Amino acid sequence: LPEAAVESLQAADVVALLPRPDEHAHKYTRGVVGIRAGSARYPGAGVLCVSGAAAGLCGMVRYLAGARDAVVAAHPDVVTENGRVQAWAVGSGGGPDVATMLAEARADGVPLVVDADALGLVDGPLGVPAVLTPHAGELSRMTGAARADIEGDPLGHAREAAVTYDAVVLLKGRHTVVARPDGNARITTTGVAWLATAGAGDVLAGLIGALLAAGLEPYDAASVGSWLHGAAATYAARGGPITAPDVARAIPGVVRDLL
Ligand code: AMP
Ligand code: MG
Repeated sequence: LPEAAVESLQAADVVALLPRPDEHAHKYTRGVVGIRAGSARYPGAGVLCVSGAAAGLCGMVRYLAGARDAVVAAHPDVVTENGRVQAWAVGSGGGPDVATMLAEARADGVPLVVDADALGLVDGPLGVPAVLTPHAGELSRMTGAARADIEGDPLGHAREAAVTYDAVVLLKGRHTVVARPDGNARITTTGVAWLATAGAGDVLAGLIGALLAAGLEPYDAASVGSWLHGAAATYAARGGPITAPDVARAIPGVVRDLL
């Protein structure tokens, strides 16, 4: 791998990168993210992915997967009609349609977040700008590397996977590593161990999708999303337990303090 910079992302970097509406903005100029996550079996993953997306500073969230009723009940602002999107988040909460959902999202040619079950379908470059969001177990299943080896050298494995898949690879864990194919990497340390809770990753996938739709480059969307997600968890936890919806609800307050 090339010699490249590894930096710890700071609040000031996030402030500089946050998408802001200009005075002539309308919802479409702010970007539309499409969510293909959640299934009849895991409706909550769809709701949580949408929760992250709704906090992600784009103009509209479209939901096109198998947990529509639960999503609309929780998020009356979400649109469930097909239409143009500027980015997709695919895979959280799996389901039988995940291969179709990934194929359709890829065919659109717009940037894409690939999470959870959809990661198992990635065997090479996707042909569109992409952010892959595995935890160590998912990356192990993708690359064949032992989970313990990945946990021992998350930076090295994330950088290698970024080359293999020609994508931004966000490797989740205690600290999150965001690597891109040129070898550069950012580490986010804003999180807290209470974030190790069901559904936390679904919120992150939606959040990154929305930041892509708002116009951030995949590397910036992934690292800013990870930073905000960790900061929101730490803020929501304040030293105690949290659930994934708490993380999503805390994101706007974290953003407000940065603006
Ligand atoms: P997932 O496994 O997809 O639900 O994602 C879990 C989320 O929790 C990711 O954002 C991880 O970075 C985060 N996480 C997991 N374990 C820890 C930990 N020990 N400390 C901080 N964050 C964690
Ligand atoms: Mg997950």
